[in-house]
Amino acid sequence: MNDRKPFDRLFDQLADEAAACVICERMRERKAVLSRLNGALDPRVMFIAEAPGRNGADRTRIPFHGDTSGRNFESLLASIKLTRDEIFITNTVLCSPRKPSGANDKPSRSEIRNCSGFLRRQIEMINPPVIATLGAVALDAVKLIEPHDYQLRDAVAKILRWNGRLLVPLYHPSPQVVITVRTLEEQKRDFRSILRAIVREENQTEKCGREK
Ligand code: SF4
Repeated sequence: MNDRKPFDRLFDQLADEAAACVICERMRERKAVLSRLNGALDPRVMFIAEAPGRNGADRTRIPFHGDTSGRNFESLLASIKLTRDEIFITNTVLCSPRKPSGANDKPSRSEIRNCSGFLRRQIEMINPPVIATLGAVALDAVKLIEPHDYQLRDAVAKILRWNGRLLVPLYHPSPQVVITVRTLEEQKRDFRSILRAIVREENQTEKCGREK
C-alpha cells in the first residue's frame, strides 16, 4: 500500500495557505473552502464548480452540501452510484463571493485569476484521471490552467481530452439552471458521461499495466 502521509500533509499545507489568503478584496472576511471535507485525495473524478454558496459550502464547509444546489448535486451523484469518498469537489474561487446585499454573486474574472494558482496546484497535486466542470464559469476558468476552445452548449456531456486527462463539461446543478436551462433529468443523463470517462480511463490504465 502507498504511504500517502507526505502527500496528505502537502494537501493540508495547501489548504492552510488558502485559509490564510486575503488577495480578493471582497472575500477577505470569508474563509476558503478547502480541506479534507472536499473529498478523496485519490478520487475517480474531480468536480470543479463555480464558488462556495452562502447557505451551502460556506456554511457547512462541505462543497455542495446544505443548500438546494447541494441537494441537486447529491441526487445527480447518487444517480450514477458514486459516493463522496470516490470524488473530490473544488471551485474556481475557494471563497464565497457576495453581493453588497449578502446574496451569492458570481466570481469576477480577476477573482478567478487570483485563485487559479490554487486550482492549478489542486489539479497537479491530486492528479485526477477525470475532471468534470459544473457550469460555464468553471469550464472557462480551466482555460487559465491550459487553454481550450470548448463551449458548454456544444461540449456538454462529451468526453474530451484536456491537460493530459479526460474532461467532461456539465451544467451547474443550481436551482436557476435546473429551472431555466437543463432539468435535473437531463443532467442525470449528462452525468452518465462521467461514468463512461472513468471506465475509459481505468481500462486504459489497466491495459498499460498489462503491457509493461
Ligand atoms: S478566492 Fe482564492 S485567491 Fe481569492 S481570497 Fe479566496 S483563496 Fe485567495
